[in-house]
Amino acid sequence: MKRILVTALLLGSPVFASEDIPDQYPQSVLYSKPVEVIPHVFSAIGATAPPTYDNAGHNNNLSFIITGDGVIVVNSGASFKLAQALHTEIKAVTNQPIKLVIVENGQGHAMLGNGYWVAQGVPILAHTEAAAEFEDGAAQDLASLQRYALENAEGTVIAMPTETFTDNKTITMGDVTLEVLHLGPAHSPGDTQVWIPQWSLMIAGDIAFHERMPPIFEGTCTSCWIETWDTALMPLNPTYVIPGHGHPTNLAQVTRYTRDYLLDLRAKIGAHLEDGGDLAGAYYVDQSAWRHLDTFEELATKNAGVVFAEMEFE
Ligand SMILES: [Zn+2]
Repeated sequence: MKRILVTALLLGSPVFASEDIPDQYPQSVLYSKPVEVIPHVFSAIGATAPPTYDNAGHNNNLSFIITGDGVIVVNSGASFKLAQALHTEIKAVTNQPIKLVIVENGQGHAMLGNGYWVAQGVPILAHTEAAAEFEDGAAQDLASLQRYALENAEGTVIAMPTETFTDNKTITMGDVTLEVLHLGPAHSPGDTQVWIPQWSLMIAGDIAFHERMPPIFEGTCTSCWIETWDTALMPLNPTYVIPGHGHPTNLAQVTRYTRDYLLDLRAKIGAHLEDGGDLAGAYYVDQSAWRHLDTFEELATKNAGVVFAEMEFE
């Protein structure tokens, strides 16, 4: 009995992304098999780790919504092969055609799979600023994919989104109305959220983190990110949240590990500045409360340096 339980525990937790588990779905280039999060909404949860050969760059969440009159995909993934593998999974659960791909931002793991969907004749929608960021960074993103993913990078080409939006866009398809939102400045240019009010579900993209440490990029305005959170995200009050990375959760959890983390880091850097501290010391402000998050080692000191540069002139 005990052994059965242990085996079940070992085999039975596909939704728990982790940076310690190299691959949860060896039969597929995907890191994990899509799970149905709420009725009609599936997500293939990526590793909460940096991109590696083992996870093939599937380190963010690739979701899809079966509307009753076609499928909407969120994120084309880090490569042609990941987009293709997701398509295989979609075909296993529905024969409705894929009608639209929405991408969450301008990062390689949101858009390098675009070429696969373009070849299928599926339109790809991105925020204008996300499209611009991808245009700037795509060659570098592709070179990096080829370096770590090796044969799993084959077939990947740079393909721009076919449609852009600037404010918000409402899409009704089948039984579902979804709002494609840009709530405001947060993690990176053109951050996009897919909000489905009738199901109180938000596919949040990288505005929201919980299992891994949020990355703060040079030029990211963390005070803006907090403001966007408080004034635009909180009022929507989603019951279910599929974040950009890590398993599906709720608003309280992503608030704790995104907004509260940003507030804490800003408070620590603020105190360091008050004390006349310099950049070299800023890297080592106390972030031990967040040590259990995946990618802590890669990001904690870097984040501190970026926030120091931001706050130095506030
Ligand atoms: Zn991301």
